[in-house]
Amino acid sequence: MTIAIDGPAGSGKSTVARTVADRLGYLYIDTGAMYRAVAYRALRDGVSIADEERLTQLAEGMQMEFVQDADGALRLIVDGEDVSEAIRTPVVSQLASPVSVLAGVRQRLVALQRQMGADGRVVMEGRDIQTVVFPEAEVKIFLTASDDQRARRRYLELRQRGEEITFEQVKREMQERDQRDSQRSLAPLARAPDAVEIDTDRKSIDEVVEAVLQVVRQKAGAAGVGD
Ligand code: C5P
Repeated sequence: MTIAIDGPAGSGKSTVARTVADRLGYLYIDTGAMYRAVAYRALRDGVSIADEERLTQLAEGMQMEFVQDADGALRLIVDGEDVSEAIRTPVVSQLASPVSVLAGVRQRLVALQRQMGADGRVVMEGRDIQTVVFPEAEVKIFLTASDDQRARRRYLELRQRGEEITFEQVKREMQERDQRDSQRSLAPLARAPDAVEIDTDRKSIDEVVEAVLQVVRQKAGAAGVGD
């Protein structure tokens, strides 16, 4: 089975997708990390965000691989370098969104994502997984949460990592990013018509995970297959 989960920043996608994958013994793929990796490389190599051609070349030349470390955490290795921490800074978060608007970059990353998920038994999360990457996924989930709740989750995450940032700053930047992600012409953040929408505002992670697993069980039952 292929499980596609999309939603805006701070909707709980990563935690939910990772936990569902753990519970089912599936592979977990965080596609946002891949867009972040292109932004990080552009920043490091001094490639301008306005230079679509060079950014596309950069993305096409990058080899990406997800591996699990000894604690079971997902690490992203790009051309042999572990970029897992470097891609989580606020500056990379802000840059990933304009980078992901570019057709050449998306084409490369979507092709990689389809390769990574080709064998099924995968939980993939991002913005366009249920609409573009795997529109035929057996399970499609769209997560939502209020702006305040999403900003609160992101803020706590960043503070925990030692970032000096205010709640207002986090909320403003997140809203800007969401607006760009939802309004871009190419693969905008959207719910597929046949996706199950889950509002995570007043739910614990466990409750959201259980709701996703219930959809998985229903689909498995309907198709007459096991996990
Ligand atoms: O999910 P995360 O916040 O790490 O994603 C970073 C950025 O990558 C998003 O703001 C979005 O612009 C982009 N993205 C995308 N398509 C995906 C996943 C992420 O455009 N499937």
